[in-house]
Amino acid sequence: MENKKNLAGKRFGRLVAVADSGKRIHHSIGWACHCDCGKIVIVQSRNLLSGTTKSCGCLQKEMAKKKFTKHNGSYTRLYHTWGNIKTRCLNPHNRDYRYYGGHGITVCEEWKNDFVKFRDWALTHGYKKGLTIDRINNNGNYSPQNCQWVTRSENAKKGNKQKGFIFKIIKIKNK
Ligand SMILES: [Zn+2]
Repeated sequence: MENKKNLAGKRFGRLVAVADSGKRIHHSIGWACHCDCGKIVIVQSRNLLSGTTKSCGCLQKEMAKKKFTKHNGSYTRLYHTWGNIKTRCLNPHNRDYRYYGGHGITVCEEWKNDFVKFRDWALTHGYKKGLTIDRINNNGNYSPQNCQWVTRSENAKKGNKQKGFIFKIIKIKNK
């Protein structure tokens, strides 16, 4: 029998060992532990001493939830952005297609089929709530090399210029 140490009263993260439960788990003493959240759980001494178990499970749940809530909002917004980019570049039926796909602007291969790649790029390249994606070179494609995140007004200023420019070209072509 390993870890015969008396752990009663000792704290391990959120857990305080109360008493030897009498249970043996993989030859390790099962300690009845009181978690800060109020639950009583039995944890083998080995996991307490090694730091593997620090709560009844509530800690992991909280962290997972925090992580999810923190990212969920931006994931949703980024997913919409990603969808919009693809539509305007690849779908001729989209009303903005003529400014993008129709103008020869496309989405790089890396982003076209992989939202996760786009999302990871965004999150490591200054994406914040309220910012919109901008192509640095207006005649360039949607790609990590040619994109940045800017405020809506910065993008609108640039966009209107670009649209005016293309309108002129369309007019000239139609003459
Ligand atoms: Zn707990």
